[in-house]
This record gives sequence, structure tokens and C-alpha cells, in this order.
Amino acid sequence: MSESEPESESESDAEGIVVVLPDGSELAVDADATVEDCAYEIGPGLGRDTVAGKLDGDLVAKEEPAYDGAELEIITDQSDEFIRVMRHSAAHCLAQAVERHYDDVDLAIGPPTDEGFYYDFDNLDIDEDDLPELEAEMEAIIDDDYEIEREEVSIEDAEERLADEPYKLELLEELAEESDTVTFYSQGEWEDLCAGPHVDSTGEIGAVKLLEIAGAYWRGDEENTMQTRIYGTAFEDESDLEAFLERKEEAEERDHRKIGNEMNLFSIQDVTGPGLPLYHPPGKTILKELEDFVEALNQDAGYDYVETPHVFKTDLWHRSGHYENYQDDMFVFDVGDDEFGLKPMNCPGHAAIFQDQSWSYRDLPIRYAENGKVYRKEQRGELSGLSRVWAFTIDDGHLFVRPDQIEKEVERIIEMIFTVLETFDLDYEVSLATRPEKSVGSDEIWERAESTLESVLEESKMDYEIEAGDGAFYGPKIDFGFEDAIGRVWDGPTVQLDFNMPERFDLSYVGEDNEEHRPVMIHRGIYGSYERFFMVLIEHYEGKFPLWLAPEQVRVLPISDDNLGYAHRVANEFDAFRVEVDDRDSTLERKIRAAHDDRVPYQIIVGDNEEEDGTISVRDRFEDQKYDVEIDAFREHLEAERDEKRTEPDFLQDE
Ligand SMILES: [Zn+2]
Ligand SMILES: [Zn+2]
Repeated sequence: MSESEPESESESDAEGIVVVLPDGSELAVDADATVEDCAYEIGPGLGRDTVAGKLDGDLVAKEEPAYDGAELEIITDQSDEFIRVMRHSAAHCLAQAVERHYDDVDLAIGPPTDEGFYYDFDNLDIDEDDLPELEAEMEAIIDDDYEIEREEVSIEDAEERLADEPYKLELLEELAEESDTVTFYSQGEWEDLCAGPHVDSTGEIGAVKLLEIAGAYWRGDEENTMQTRIYGTAFEDESDLEAFLERKEEAEERDHRKIGNEMNLFSIQDVTGPGLPLYHPPGKTILKELEDFVEALNQDAGYDYVETPHVFKTDLWHRSGHYENYQDDMFVFDVGDDEFGLKPMNCPGHAAIFQDQSWSYRDLPIRYAENGKVYRKEQRGELSGLSRVWAFTIDDGHLFVRPDQIEKEVERIIEMIFTVLETFDLDYEVSLATRPEKSVGSDEIWERAESTLESVLEESKMDYEIEAGDGAFYGPKIDFGFEDAIGRVWDGPTVQLDFNMPERFDLSYVGEDNEEHRPVMIHRGIYGSYERFFMVLIEHYEGKFPLWLAPEQVRVLPISDDNLGYAHRVANEFDAFRVEVDDRDSTLERKIRAAHDDRVPYQIIVGDNEEEDGTISVRDRFEDQKYDVEIDAFREHLEAERDEKRTEPDFLQDE
């Protein structure tokens, strides 16, 4: 104490400031020191290499002043953040190129993203054929190696400079509320109102590529003008760019929207509404198999199915707390004097069912299951295929348990989830999210719940990460994320303990002591959302579903019309499967190609030879063909293959 006091006094005497470096050490600098000055203070080499900085986690220009107590990180071209800075500069090159080629364009915003950058323009009439020309112009700008200059400008001067830029003026108006000055970045003849940071010159930008054009609402608000967004990306060198483009192409090949359309699985149409998927017969066939699969798991685990409507009075949502916290995402409407809402969650309905009866401790656990459709009003611009939708179905389950039953129940749920992960051979990651700062429930119940979840995970021998403080306010949870073929992670199964909803619904059971007790509620989804899971599966299998899921499992291809009768007799032998006969007037070669394009697992080919011998030829998806196959033998093979994936792994079973 006595030692530190004089020190802090001497600092204030010099009116200097202290910043904290990533290794935890402190650096004393002048009060008006910029990020770059701090870097020079650490070492002249670092000073010269400085591209930008991070102050308390925010990326800032190197010219920005540091402040006392800030955590400072210096960004050089060796830092992870460098690519973001470079991509932002590439976005500027795009806007410069656009303004060189098109007149009267209005500039909106142009930030870097995780995979590249974009710039939004208004009054720009352009299509994808025009992109190569713009790309060439960007490359010329990069070759010319313009210095990128930062300038601090008063609000009045900025207004003058931006007189022809209505969107920039709107941004300026907001910036003026916070500061007397703004910054401009210029390169060659072009400049932009921009907070930065940027690289020092356009020559520091590596390889660029323009990717696509899309519509985007000004500020993401559908009430506003629809602008033209040009997406691009930039990498430090050509080989990194090539690798990225290859991954992107792979992702596009597997894109569930493309495959979903080719296989007639689902559609999302303007006339029926955004984010509202329609499942066509082949798609519903797969969904039905998924429903049956999880229903069998539910039955084994002692769940009872319940059913609740799609709409409730908002009284229910007030009681559950969804109205307060979730209102903006809910579809709400009036009927007479009452207000109703489409359900964003199934839980309150299940809590209401539980509450309608009195329970003894002997009745617990109670386990309700429902394939419950829910509705969440996401921003239209965010909607995408089956991954972001307005209407989706959760394979929902809610358990009402005594505190001493939590462990056993969570264990069973994890076992069900594990069965699904194994069955579909999915890569996944697991996290345990613990108590956040604001929470409901006693210390005792939180400690008990967290240690229970942890011990179940330990026992399962899965790798998992603890995300401290990331739990919901109402309880800790275990989340599974599906990793797709190109490394993206999607929300998957979840197990959440809830100490709040039982309070809100005043749920109780009579204990052994004849007193009323609160049950703990467990929310769990084994797939999570069917839509998300379906999307993951389509991309995981590239549409080549395992036999038990394939919408059409077998297709019989007669070599000529003479074999049509035999083809139908053969098809009848496989009536325990989803089988079709291709009776179109077409060549065998074309029929084989069609079956291949439709991703049918097996083709049975029958011609005169097969008809004479009473046999079949079998061709699989991998284009292997076998002749003179006995019908019975192939049927047995098919049955075995169909049923194989349904066997349960022996995870946690031997206790
Ligand atoms: Zn900018
Ligand atoms: Zn729930």
C-alpha cells in the first residue's frame, strides 16, 4: 500500500497514462500518445510495422489516442486481425472502382466480414457479368499503390464534402452527436467517410476477388430502400485465395438449397411467404423417418407425447416471460379484445399441461414430448434456406423432475443425443455453459446442477468446453454444435435446466414429507430443430442419404418396353421398400443418368437375359454393377442395410 501510493502520484504529476499490454505488463506513455506512439515506445521496429491497434478489444486506427487503463494490442501484418484491416481497404478499392465506372452512384457502407467484405451502393445498375471489369479496375488500383491517407475533418467540412451522398450524410448526422470531428480516408482521387483502420497503401492489399451481387436494405431495415450489395474477398496471396474459392465451391456443391431443389425436397416461395418452408413428398418422407427414429428413442426413454396448438393468448407469454423478453421476435395479433401470439417456444404449453394436475413425488419424473412447430420473426434479410426460417419444428421434450433425479435424466438425454450423433456419423462439439452473473435459483441448486452436468459429461468421455458464465439466467445447459463438411458449426441438440419456469407457473409436487416442492424443468431437443438438422444432413450426405432415409430407395430400369411387365413384377418383390419403375420411353443410359441425378441408392436393371433367368442386375450409387443377382438375396441385403443404422451404440449402457 505504502509503496504504490507515491508511484501513482508521480504518474499524475507527469500527466501520463498507463496502458496494459497483452502479456499483462504496463506501459507508461504521454497523455496524448496514439496507438502508434505506444508501439514506438515498445520498440522502433514494432512502431514501423504497426498497421492498427486494439483498445479494450475494439479495432482502431493507429492514429487513435490511447487512454489510461486501456488494454492495448498492436496490430501488424503478422496479426490475425490484419486480414480484416486489409479487406476493409479492399472494400474501399471496390467503391473507388465502381465510382470510376458508374456515374451518380450513392455510397452506403462497406465493412469487412468474416469471409471477405462488401460495399452497398444505391443507384447502381449492374449484374454479375460486370464484376470482372470492376475486379480488373481494383487490381489496377492495387498496382498503382496509392497511399491511403487519414484525415480528421470538422463536421461542417464533412457535410460539404458529402453533399452528394445522402446515406453518408445520414451517418454523419449520428456521428455528429458523439464528436466534433470525423475521419476521412483517401486513396488517389477517391475518399470516404470512414473510421478505419486501413493499411498504409493500396499495394498492401493481396489477391482480390468479387463474388456476387445481392440486394440489401439500407441499415438492414425492410422499410428502407433496397440497395445493391457487392460481395468480395481478399487474401494476402493468390494461393490463400485459391484455397478459399475451392472450399466455397465445395460448399456450393453441397448447399442444401441446391440439393433440396434438385431432389424436390422442399421449397420456400414468395407467394407463401419468407422463411416458411414447404416440404414436398420426398422431403417429408425423410422428415417422417427422422420423426419415427426419435419417437422410438422417446418411447424407450419413457416420454409421453402431448400436443399443443400453434397459437396461445398472450396471457401465457406474459406468464412465461417470453412476451417481455421475446416480443420483437413474436408474431402477435388481436382477436376481439384479446391478444394472441404464435408460439415461439413449446415450453409454456407443456408447463400448463403439468400444472393442470396434482403430482406426488412418486409420479416424477414426468416427460413430455412434442414435435412442436414454433414461429420466430427473424429479420427478413437474415433468412436463408432451412438454416434461418420463421417457422420450424423442434423435437421438443420437457421433463419435470425432483432435484435428486436430475443426474439420471440428463444421463439418459445425453445417451439419446449420442445415439443420434453416432447414427448419422456427425462431427460435433460440446459445451457446458455455467451460471451467468444475473440468474434465478439458489446457490445450492446451481452448484448441484452444474456439478451434475459436469459429471455426466465426464462419464460420457466426450471432449467438451466449459463456457463459464454463458448459461441462461434460468439454469445451466449443455449445447451440441454440428460441424459441417467445411468446418462451419450449427446449433444442434441441447439440454437445459430451468429453475425459473417452475416458479412462474407455480409448479409443484407433494414430497415424501407431505409438503409442496418445486420440480426442476429440463428442456431438451435431440435434433434441435428439424429444419436445421435436415439442412445439416442434406449437406453432410450431399443428398446421398443412407438407404433408410432415401426418399426413393430402389428404382427398376427396364432395358426396353418388352421388359416392362417383368420390371413391375420385380418391383412388387420389393414392396417393403420405396420403389419405382422407370417406365419412360428412354434409353437405358438416360435412365441410369436420371437415377444417378436423383441420388437413388440402388438401380435394378432388367432386360431379356434377366427376365429369362428370373434374376436382376444391380447397380449402386458408386456405379458398381453386379449381374445375375437372385431377387431374394438382394432383398435380404437391402433389409440388412436399411436396418443396420438403427442399432443403438452401447454408450453408457453397461451400468
Ligand atoms: Zn471504410
Ligand atoms: Zn423448452
